[in-house]
Amino acid sequence: ATPVISVRDLVVEFPTRRGVLRAIDKVSFDVAPGEILGVVGESGAGKSITGSAIIGLIDPPGRVAGGEILLKGKRIDNLPEEEMRRLRGKRIGMVFQDPLTSLNPLYTVGEQIIETIRTHLPMSEAQARKRAIELLADVGIPAPDNRVDSYPHQFSGGMRQRVVIALALCAEPEFIIADEPTTALDVSLQAQIIAVFKRVCEERGTSAILITHDMGVIAEAADRVAVLYAGRVAEVGPVRDMLGKPLHPYTTGLMGSIPSIAGTDDRLRQIPGSMPRLNRIPSGCAFHPRCEHEMPVCSQKRPGLNHVGQTDVACFLHGDATA
Ligand code: SF4
Ligand code: MG
Repeated sequence: ATPVISVRDLVVEFPTRRGVLRAIDKVSFDVAPGEILGVVGESGAGKSITGSAIIGLIDPPGRVAGGEILLKGKRIDNLPEEEMRRLRGKRIGMVFQDPLTSLNPLYTVGEQIIETIRTHLPMSEAQARKRAIELLADVGIPAPDNRVDSYPHQFSGGMRQRVVIALALCAEPEFIIADEPTTALDVSLQAQIIAVFKRVCEERGTSAILITHDMGVIAEAADRVAVLYAGRVAEVGPVRDMLGKPLHPYTTGLMGSIPSIAGTDDRLRQIPGSMPRLNRIPSGCAFHPRCEHEMPVCSQKRPGLNHVGQTDVACFLHGDATA
């Protein structure tokens, strides 16, 4: 089947006074129909920038400087802004970390959902209201026919994030990008919200990218995982294989970070050293200064993706492909 989303050799650059910073350097992955791809890595690995690139929302002066992004086989990285805006919300839904950035405090959640539905679908006010109530019920809001008339501040954090998921589903998008959807929530709520997200995607056959720094969230919800390091793919493959037998030494380090679904970036720092700054990406394999398996070739050549079973891994321990 044609992937719902294909990212091919994506390069994203930010010009600065001291030269061009390459935040994303030839990232490639596919998201199959109905699949949830987890995108994981430390802060600064390029997770959110990859998500922003897909929806055409890289903050200028940052720009996509290379590669292609395809939605069901058609390029979307070169669409005029007008068309891209129509695509967002209609074919691509979005769920962000902080519900208060997605919800307008001045309008009831019903008004916002109804407006979004009617922007994208030919429905009367009454039909859209009925649908809004159904969507709220679907994401687990109790008494949705009352709550539809409440304002965002009248919901708890967890309920608000459910509303944001309902909002992303308004136009029945083919694809959803969720960027750290539970990071702002209490630990006890995170698993619930991830479960809602996974269920609504499954029920609709919707594909998604789930961006997180938390391997616990990945283990809970993803079918496949892309591990990013310093703007590059370290490893991408089925979640089962990666949890059971990670191939890249960096992924092995991340696995030390699973104890619960909760997460802070601190937990990932148990791998000695830290992610390089974008203006100081090490030569060859960007991970080599932190890698306990480093070989002479590792600082000389950049590893390309080697196929091992259903996994692709950029590491010379698993083949000699170079990027
Ligand atoms: Fe370690 Fe070399 Fe593999 Fe990089 S390529 S992860 S330095 S073994
Ligand atoms: Mg981020």
